Amino acid sequence: MQPKQRILNVPVYQPGKPIDDVKREFGLTEVIKLASNENPFGFSPDVKEAIMGHLDTLAVYPDGASLQLRWDLAEFLKVQPEQLIFGNGSDEVVQMISRAYLGEGTNTITATPTFPQYRSNAIIDGAELIEVPLKNGVHDLEAMADAINEQTRVVWVCNPNNPSGTIVTATELEAFLKRVPQNVLVVLDEAYYEYVVAEEYPQTVPMLSQYPNLIILRTFSKIYGLAALRIGYGIASAEVIDHLNHVREPFNTSSLAQAAARAALKDQSFVEKCRNLNRQGMKQLTDQFDAWGLDYYPSQANFVLVNLKQDSDEVFRKLLSQGIIVRSGRALGFPGYQRITVGNAEQNEKILQALRDIVAGAWKE
Ligand SMILES: *Cc1c(COP(=O)(O)O)cnc(C)c1O
Repeated sequence: MQPKQRILNVPVYQPGKPIDDVKREFGLTEVIKLASNENPFGFSPDVKEAIMGHLDTLAVYPDGASLQLRWDLAEFLKVQPEQLIFGNGSDEVVQMISRAYLGEGTNTITATPTFPQYRSNAIIDGAELIEVPLKNGVHDLEAMADAINEQTRVVWVCNPNNPSGTIVTATELEAFLKRVPQNVLVVLDEAYYEYVVAEEYPQTVPMLSQYPNLIILRTFSKIYGLAALRIGYGIASAEVIDHLNHVREPFNTSSLAQAAARAALKDQSFVEKCRNLNRQGMKQLTDQFDAWGLDYYPSQANFVLVNLKQDSDEVFRKLLSQGIIVRSGRALGFPGYQRITVGNAEQNEKILQALRDIVAGAWKE
């Protein structure tokens, strides 16, 4: 076989280790996963009913345009229905952006380290990748603006950034947008938008009228707890959405996912509850990190990147053997660190217990 040479430069995505894998490998019956930023509180109870109500329609193709969800979400966000596009997870919207705007002879700008899908898709589509290092864990928007040239088509801003959890502020973002040429698309990946409580976090939907070269990505996978169903969306000018529709697969989101997303969107009290519990859980973890004198990045998301100053992969294995799956910082570009998803109070307590020995260096093989 002769694949396109450049796809071999894209690493195969390594997901968080599956729970069943760890149970088997270590002979454990109880394993908790704090690795993939999933919602420890599940999803709104209304979702189940909505899905059940659609089980009789499985023989029929879904509505490719997601009309009902589109109308609901447009009303919720106060945008026009034509300003929305849905994807099989926001991952797929990332892919559509790359297909539509990137190719040989173009370049695209990302921070590093950041969410790996921007990079992977750029390589697949043959674009040159310009990676600008984070400054103290935060996007260096000035350096990213400086890096823009004639060939630049897309700039990616992950806010809050995965894996650091840090945000760029409204002031920083506005100064950046003023510098970006109108023909360069700025992608604001806000997968953790609903978790953010910081007042200086930008409200970007109202900025769309001033900046038609903006697209905002959000998802039902994180705070809404629907990761298994794969549904996310983009919000942009009707023009940008039209470009993306040219590369969208006809039936890219399922009817069950659309129905679930509508029910989840209606239950904003669940979202608010999870946002509050997440901040409590974050405090539970970081209070202890403070007591231990550990450094971590200030996170507005549902995960925290903490410096344990020990070999990431070794600590990762130690935690695995105790039935706790996290994300080794080494694979994320932060050797010495672990990225830990904020769990429920009990899960947080469990990982703090396990870390206690590791931090003290007292853990025995
Ligand atoms: C989780 C995540 C996504 C993708 O989520 P989907 O499940 O594909 O909607 C996108 N961006 C970032 C930064 C993420 O962490």
